[in-house]
Amino acid sequence: MVYKWCVVPQCTNTSINSPNKLFVSVPMNPKRRKLWLQLARRDPKGIVIHSNVFMCEDHFDAFHQALTWSEYKKGNTVKYLISCTPNGLVNYVSQGFGGRTSDVTIVENCNFLKGLQQGTCILADRGFKHLEQILHEKGMKLLRPPSVHAVINTNILRILDHVIIIACALINLQDSLIK
Ligand SMILES: [Zn+2]
Repeated sequence: MVYKWCVVPQCTNTSINSPNKLFVSVPMNPKRRKLWLQLARRDPKGIVIHSNVFMCEDHFDAFHQALTWSEYKKGNTVKYLISCTPNGLVNYVSQGFGGRTSDVTIVENCNFLKGLQQGTCILADRGFKHLEQILHEKGMKLLRPPSVHAVINTNILRILDHVIIIACALINLQDSLIK
């Protein structure tokens, strides 16, 4: 395998210390090559013409990263709405949303409430601001329990939807699995 190192200043990623990262070839075309290097704040004069240089995946998709940035966690996050019944059975998993999405926006944009009957009581932590109003309109009640948070490994981002669903399935199966 060709040894690749990221040409972006301050970035220390190489194909050896980060074998799972994608290394994108910087174009050979002089105009585009110059533009890429300038955007990466790398002096094009310092790079040999026609040499093979790379940028790692960390510097792409800045827009996507902005959507997933969480001030609270100081990192890029993905959010899921996961609900469970009082006896611990997971009864709803939403699709993944960027970490910037507010909890209430997720409630409004997934099908969670559609599956619930009038008069249902829902426990939701303080992140769900203004949820009372929405639930009230649907004839449901809100309770605030103590909150918990978790941090995930970024290597699994690409398969996160599957990971979450499998984790929830395992939670539901744990009694029969652990016995
Ligand atoms: Zn890099």
